[in-house]
Amino acid sequence: MNGLNLKDKVAVITGGAGIICSTLSKSLAAQGVKTVILDLNKDAAIKVAKEIETEFKTPSIGLSANVLDKASLEAVKKEINDKFGTIDILVNGAGGNSPAATTKNEIIEGTSTENLEDTFFGLKIEGFDKVFDLNFKGTVLPSMVFGTDLIGKKSGSIVNISSMNSYRPLTKIPAYSAAKAAINNFTQWLAVHFAKTGVRVNAIAPGFLLTNQNRFLLIDEKSGGMTPRGNKIINGTPMGRYVVPEELSGTLIYLVSDLSKAVTGIVIPVDGGFSAYSGV
Ligand code: NAD
Repeated sequence: MNGLNLKDKVAVITGGAGIICSTLSKSLAAQGVKTVILDLNKDAAIKVAKEIETEFKTPSIGLSANVLDKASLEAVKKEINDKFGTIDILVNGAGGNSPAATTKNEIIEGTSTENLEDTFFGLKIEGFDKVFDLNFKGTVLPSMVFGTDLIGKKSGSIVNISSMNSYRPLTKIPAYSAAKAAINNFTQWLAVHFAKTGVRVNAIAPGFLLTNQNRFLLIDEKSGGMTPRGNKIINGTPMGRYVVPEELSGTLIYLVSDLSKAVTGIVIPVDGGFSAYSGV
C-alpha cells in the first residue's frame, strides 16, 4: 500500500511474544518496519524475532524487559538505540487478567451474607494490584521511557491495547475492566499532552479472542466445549464468532501510518459488532 511511510521505522512491541502482539509485530514487519519484540519471556521473544527475520527479511530483535521496571526498560532502550537507532512506534501490548482478581460468580443471588467467598468479597486486593500494575502502569512506564525518542523526532505513534471491558465492565473481572478503562482515559490524556509535538496516541479495543489469558473462562476444561460464558460471548457478538489476531493488523497499520495523520486520542473497537449490540 502506498502512503504508509512505515519502511525502516523502528517499533517496540511490549508483550510482543504473546498471541496478539506476535501477530501485530509480524504485520509491522510485513510493511518493512524494524521490530523489537519486548517481553518478560526472553526465549519466546527471541523465537518471534527469528520467525520475523526468516519470514519477512526485516530486522527484528527479541529482548527481555519488565514493563513494570523502569530500569529494565531504560537498559533495553539503550540496546535498541545502539542497534536500530531511535524509536518511531510503541505498541503497549503487555497486559492481561489474573484469576486472583476474578470472581467465581457473576452476580450475588439473594441477601445472605454467608458463602460470599465466590463473589466480590472473596477477591484478593493483591489481585487488583497485579492487574492494575500490568495493564495500566505497564502502559504508562514504557510510554515514559520510549516516548522520549518520539518527542525528539517530532513524529511517531503510540498504540495502546485496550479491551471491550473498557466501555462496559464484564462480569467477574472488575480489576481488568477498570484497568482497561484507565487505558482509554490515559490514551486521551497523553494524546492531548503530546498533540503539539507531532506524536499521536491511540488505542485498539479488541473484541473477544480465544487466548491463553481467557481460555479458562471460555472453554470447559473437562469437556472441551464452550462454557456458558463462552456461549454468551458468541451470542452477544453479531458476527457470531471470535475475532482472530490477524484481524487487528489493519487497524494497527492505519494507526501507526500516515493514513491516520490527523487521528489522535481515539480507541477503535475491532469486535465483530459486540460493542454496538444491545443483545436484543
Ligand atoms: P498473551 O498472554 O498471549 O500475551 C501477553 C504477553 O505479555 C506474554 O508474552 C507475556 O510474557 C508478556 N508479559 C506479561 N507480563 C509482562 C511484563 N511485566 N513485562 C513484559 N511482558 C510481559 O496475551 P494476549 O491475549 O495476546 O493479550 C495481549 C493484549 O491484548 C493484552 O493487553 C490483553 O489485555 C489485550 N486483550 C486481549 C484480549 C483477548 O481476548 N485475548 C481481548 C482484548 C484485549
